[in-house]
Amino acid sequence: MAERRITDPFEHLIALSSRDAANMINAAPIGICITNAAGMFEMVNPAYCEFYGYEKEELLGQHFTVVVPKAYRAKLSQLHDAFIAGNEIQELRQELEVRCKNGEARTIIAEAARLHGDDGAPRKVTYVIDITSRKHLEEQLKQANERLDHLAHHDELTGIFNRRAGLMRLEEELKRCQRYGSKLSVAMYDLDSFKHINDTYGHSIGDDVLKEMTQLIAKEIRSTDFLVRLGGEEFLIIMPEVEVSSAYLATDRLRQQAAATPMTTHALTVTLSAGVASYMKTSTTRLLDRVDKAMYRAKQSGRNKVIIADDVT
Ligand code: GH3
Ligand code: MG
Ligand code: MG
Repeated sequence: MAERRITDPFEHLIALSSRDAANMINAAPIGICITNAAGMFEMVNPAYCEFYGYEKEELLGQHFTVVVPKAYRAKLSQLHDAFIAGNEIQELRQELEVRCKNGEARTIIAEAARLHGDDGAPRKVTYVIDITSRKHLEEQLKQANERLDHLAHHDELTGIFNRRAGLMRLEEELKRCQRYGSKLSVAMYDLDSFKHINDTYGHSIGDDVLKEMTQLIAKEIRSTDFLVRLGGEEFLIIMPEVEVSSAYLATDRLRQQAAATPMTTHALTVTLSAGVASYMKTSTTRLLDRVDKAMYRAKQSGRNKVIIADDVT
């Protein structure tokens, strides 16, 4: 009988001698193992042993969950049994956390297929690719991006929204007002004679004042309000759904609390002057301009005061 020409590469592999097949598995740069129906290792290649840090003899005959963290053992064992008993030839690629002999946690991609040996018994062959360093890099990149994102929107000293983020927020709130006719008030405040504090006690005490004052205000405002550091010792509170009269009362309460709270190790009395304005179908710039003018009036009329913009513009 003429020899059949083999064209399919897979058939070609099958036609290899068993010694060639064994060499191929042993030289493979990825971990390969075969488990029997009971989940016991029947074959592990050198890359598999090296990755997990076990000698071949330590693994053969052991249940495969020896390389699985305790928390996932029951689940993976169940999946193994279901795969062996099921109809799928190939198991979907999975990302898994595993444990090496030295306890080190690593992340792998595992792909598996079902085999039937000469004895007819089903087995599972699993291919393992180590993606731990890629995972680490991804995690580091994610954290770095989160840090950058946080820095882009928050003020470093006080941790609250920075000017850019605050003005974006205000813009969004104004759009909401225009669309749904909702209410909105803002309060702008600036610490009084802050230069004097810096000059007398030093810049770092000045920084402490800014931090403590921000904590005090942040604790007092509603959870729906946004506190923004516009720059220096000038801040903005965006108060959605708040009428100007309530905004005034809330801001004046903050003013009184600030004045009554000793700040820093020097127990300093720090006061603030504020303007309050509410939305009146105007742009962000116009609203800020009105509230800024009101704050300026508060400064001019002796400081430690809150003035409503509608009264002055
Ligand atoms: P007024 O009552 O009119 O507001 O007087 P003031 O002294 O508070 O106002 P002025 O604008 O003259 O001074 C503000 C000072 O705030 C000047 C600046 O050095 C200081 N400052 C701005 N940013 C910071 C900061 O981040 N930390 C510290 N410690 N000081 C700051
Ligand atoms: Mg000031
Ligand atoms: Mg200022």
